[in-house]
This record gives sequence, structure tokens and C-alpha cells, in this order.
Amino acid sequence: MLTIGTHMSIAKGLAKTAENVVWMKANTMQIFSRNPRGSNFKVYTEEEIGKFQKLRRENQFGPLLAHAPYTMNLASDKEKVYEFACTAIREDVARMDSLGIEYLVFHPGSHTGIGIEQGIENIIRGLNQAITGQEKIMVLLETMTGKGTEIGARFEHLRKIRDGAAHPERIGICLDTCHVFAAGYDIVNDLEGVLLEFDRVLGLKLLKAIHLNDSMMPFGSHKDRHAVVGEGEIGMEALLRVMRHPALNALPFYLETPLDDEGHKEEIQRLREKLDE
Ligand code: FE
Ligand code: FE
Ligand code: ZN
Repeated sequence: MLTIGTHMSIAKGLAKTAENVVWMKANTMQIFSRNPRGSNFKVYTEEEIGKFQKLRRENQFGPLLAHAPYTMNLASDKEKVYEFACTAIREDVARMDSLGIEYLVFHPGSHTGIGIEQGIENIIRGLNQAITGQEKIMVLLETMTGKGTEIGARFEHLRKIRDGAAHPERIGICLDTCHVFAAGYDIVNDLEGVLLEFDRVLGLKLLKAIHLNDSMMPFGSHKDRHAVVGEGEIGMEALLRVMRHPALNALPFYLETPLDDEGHKEEIQRLREKLDE
């Protein structure tokens, strides 16, 4: 059985979220590591964490993914923005690691005019003050669409970030199907070619997670608008080919499509039917 889950709200606590995962017939989930548009986070009680751990064990969840806040820009040269980003990633690596979450994914950031090279240097410095090398968690760089001055629309950007890190062994990649498609990697007509390119530049071994989204925006548009699976420019068949691909089918898939829990439950059911599961 494939590992499929969706992005979930943790507003009602970690244990309740895990219960919803089971109800959805999913076997993993993505959560925000803290308020995605603000900066605060909840401190969970031991009891809450215990319940959550029990549920995930009993239901054999696959690897869990936490997503860093959107307001975090490690590429920035604005002091306040950069300081917040450094604090958030440092705290969240430690916090998510202590919850036993396997991966923390983040958007590399936008350089806002200082250039890709300088932006990448800032990201590396930010990662180096966050990752001690003692943690179990892996930090995943997300492939981006390249809107505005966004870094990470080319596999080469991600390679440079990882190469510069003091603990590259703690850094992997999360491939977002909507983002790579909008960035100009043709996963619809040439999935094999895209994977070869990924392997050449980064190495497929670094690929740890897939964000499974369709795209409202056309190929190469550099615009980031997620669509429900099968209702966008990528389409159901191409996304099923991604899920079935022998180099990818053992990875965890996380839906970030514009649906609520009920809608996501149906979306997962639809996928499992098509995959013959
Ligand atoms: Fe993301
Ligand atoms: Fe994503
Ligand atoms: Zn996106």
C-alpha cells in the first residue's frame, strides 16, 4: 500500500489530527510546524504527545512531514526577516525532532533583489545555525515554481544549498509536482527525463517526499496555484504515473490540494481505487 496523506490542520491538537488521518484512511500527514502566517506555536502536553504517538504507532503511519511557516525567508538580507527565519528554523528543527517527526520541509526563500548567489549563501548560513547534526529529523528543501525572486525552481539551486551545508547528511529534497511543472520540468510528457535530470543534479537518493498537487497554472508559468488531483493542467494520468513509478512509489505522498478533510478523504479514496489498492 502506498503512503498517502494530506496537509492537516492541528487546530484541535495532535491527537485529534492523528484520529482524522485514520478516519480519512490515510497513512501519513503533513502539519505546519507553527502558525504558517504568524510566528507563534503551541506547546503540547506530555499527555497529548503520548496519545499522538500511540495513534501513529497503532495505525502504522509512514514518515510524517512538518512544514515550516510561509513567513520564513532564510534568503532575505533584511535583518528582522532573517533573524525571525533563523530562530524559526532552529526552534522547529528541535521541536519537530523531539516529536519524532521524520521530516521538516521549507521553502528555500526569495532573494528579493540581492541575487540567487547571495540568497543561497544566506540560506546556508541559516541552516548551519539550525542543524546540529545530532538530530534524527531531516530538513527537506522544497522544489519551487520560481515566482518573483524565489530560489529553488532549479534543481541546481537545491544542490548548491545542500553542498554548502555543514551537515548535508541531514538535508534532503521534497518534490512538489505542481511546483516543478510550473517551473518548467515536464512531468506530463517526460517524467523519465525529469527524473534523470533530478538524479544527475541531486541524486534520487535525496528525494524523501512528494507533494502531490495538480496545477491550475500552465506548464512553465512560474505561478503557484494548486488544483485538486485530476482537475488541473497536469491531470490524473500523469499524477498516477508519478505515484506508480518504481523510483517514487515507496515515497510518502502528501496532498496539498484546495479541499477540506471530507474532500481529501474522497480524493485519497479516488487515488487508491485508480491505483488498485
Ligand atoms: Fe510548500
Ligand atoms: Fe508544496
Ligand atoms: Zn505551492
